[in-house]
Parts: sequence; C-alpha cells; structure tokens
Amino acid sequence: MIHEKIFRAQGKKLISLVIPCYNEQEVIGETLDRLAQLCKTLHDYAFEIVCVDDGSRDKTYELLCAAAETMPDLRIVKFSRNFGHQIAVTAGIDAAGGDAIVLIDADLQDPPEIVSQMIAKWEEGFDVIYGVRTSRAGESAFKQVSARGFYRFLNTLSEVPIPLDTGDFRLMSRPVVEVLKSMPERHRFVRGMVAWIGFKQTALPYERAERFAGESKYPLRKMVRFAMDGILSFSTKPLRLAVGLGLTSAALAMLGIAYALALRIFSSVWVEGWTALMIAVLFMGGVQLLSLGIIGEYIGRIYSEVKRRPLYIVDEKVGFAGPAMLPRKARAKSFAPSEHR
Ligand code: UDP
Ligand code: MG
Repeated sequence: MIHEKIFRAQGKKLISLVIPCYNEQEVIGETLDRLAQLCKTLHDYAFEIVCVDDGSRDKTYELLCAAAETMPDLRIVKFSRNFGHQIAVTAGIDAAGGDAIVLIDADLQDPPEIVSQMIAKWEEGFDVIYGVRTSRAGESAFKQVSARGFYRFLNTLSEVPIPLDTGDFRLMSRPVVEVLKSMPERHRFVRGMVAWIGFKQTALPYERAERFAGESKYPLRKMVRFAMDGILSFSTKPLRLAVGLGLTSAALAMLGIAYALALRIFSSVWVEGWTALMIAVLFMGGVQLLSLGIIGEYIGRIYSEVKRRPLYIVDEKVGFAGPAMLPRKARAKSFAPSEHR
C-alpha cells in the first residue's frame, strides 16, 4: 500500500487503531479527538485509524467522512448492512496495514491512553497485549455478574485457556494478525481466537470506563448469541452432555426397574403409577430434545460454514488511497468480498 511505503520511508513503525462503530454518532467525534491526541504524544510511531462503520443507521458514517477531510490517516470501511461487532473488528484487521494493530471500542470505554503502555510492552517483545478489566464502571449489575460467570464457565469448557475478563481491547503484532487473517471461521469470537493462536501474550490490567455517551449496542439477545459463539466455537463438550444425560437416565431407569421387581417379588404388589410414568416420559422427552437442540446448534454452524459466503460486504471505502497528498474524495465503491474467500 502507498501509505505504508511512505511511513516506512520515515523509518517509523506503523500502528493501526481499529474501531468498530455502530450507531455511535454521540461519541465518535470525541473518540477521534482523543485518539488524535494520543497519536500526537507518541512521536516515534506513525498511526492510522481504521473505522469500520457496521451499517449504522444514524449519522456515524457522515461524521466519519467529515473527519476524514481533516485527518489524513483516517480510513473508513463502510459495510452494506449491520454484520455485528466481531465481523466489524475482522474487517478492520483485514484493512489495517500496521506493524501492530490495536482494537479499541468506539465508546471510550477502553481508555486510549492505555495504548501507549501496550506499545511499550510490544517493544519489550510481546506479540499480544490484552486489556484485563479490573473494574467495569457504569455497567449494570446483571452485565457484570453474567460476564464474570460467563468467562469462568467458558474456561471450564474451552480446550484453550481464554484469559478471564478480557474484551477485544488489545494490541496484536503483525505475525499474530497474519495468523488471525488466515482463520476463516464465520462465528467469530476474536478474543478466543487470539488466545488459541499463542505466541507471547501478556495481560495489562485497566479500569474499564463508563460509556462516554449513547447506549450499549449489545442487547441481551446479542449477548446471548455472542456467548453461544464463544462456547460452541471453542468446545465440543456440550455434545458430550448427551452421553452424560443418556447414561444418567439409563441408570435411573435401571434403579426403577430393580425397585419395581423387588416390590413385585417380595411383597407381590405392582408399583402404581400414572405420576411416575408421566415424570419418566417427560424427563426422557426433555433430555432427548435438549440433546437434539445441542446437536442442531453445531449442525447449523456447519451449514453456515459450508455455504462459504463472504464474511462481510463492503459498501464504500474512504481514505485508503494514502495520506493527505491524494484527493480525499476518491471513494471506492466496491463489493469485493472479504479477503477470507
Ligand atoms: N458494535 C458494532 N456492531 C454491532 C454492535 C456493536 O460494531 O452490531 C461496536 C460498537 O459501536 C462499539 C463496540 O462494538 O464500538 C462495542 O459495543 P458496545 O460498547 O455497545 O458494547 P458493550 O461495551 O456495551 O459490551
Ligand atoms: Mg461499550
């Protein structure tokens, strides 16, 4: 890419800040300001800011385009519709050209100032520096408790240890990014995928701030889907649950048979029991449907994987022609599928 060559010519390492944005018109201006300030303080590096507009229905994209007029290092990828946070992050990673990539939310919950500490760790030789939330200001008790519980539960299931209480706020070196880009899976749980990749990883504790403005874009429905993606992408243990449930109910049935026979032989009464029968039938029905449902979840995922559709569709790209010296209006309308296919 042209802009990379220019930065390299200056002998500076390029850091890409990747920001997924979905209906963030209340905060995006402030976020860009704070990031621009950060870039100014770190003279030894060159920066690019890659914003992915994930099909926002408000003025986010217009605000981003207006900012791009004055910020030569701002690049924008606009999706054709809302594809979801994890896919937006993926598109940002695909589009970023930096020696290191930092994923950061648009709502200033991840303090941009922490990025300088991440860069320092990267210079020490770490490949992944992930932020660990020591506290979560301004989030509902339900969200805090469910998140804590979820990460611990996920770790008991997952075949790779996934760091507790992390989000996507992290710095990744180019080698890690290249591996991540080669992972084409659709149901993406980026924080887990990065843990799976390995290399030298370290934690950086930070206090998660309150959302600067606007509302969370993660309603319960999206949170549940995200949690399912985490569990089903990183574990096949739920499939084994069917075996466990089957064995348990078979054992219960054996006990029941032994009990009924013993009664019949030693006291010559039959076990009476419409109630017992109904309980047994309903229990077995429940166990079978639950097992089927779990299998169905995995099959659904196999189905969407084999369709091999592109992960996302780009509507417009702004600012990829290079820094300020090239005309800013050069907007490429492209329907090129993602690099994953
Ligand atoms: N986001 C996105 N697409 C979505 C939902 C969220 O790109 O469908 C972005 C959002 O703009 C923000 C980040 O993902 O930058 C995290 O979302 P949010 O702050 O709403 O989640 P929370 O912090 O409440 O978990
Ligand atoms: Mg947030």
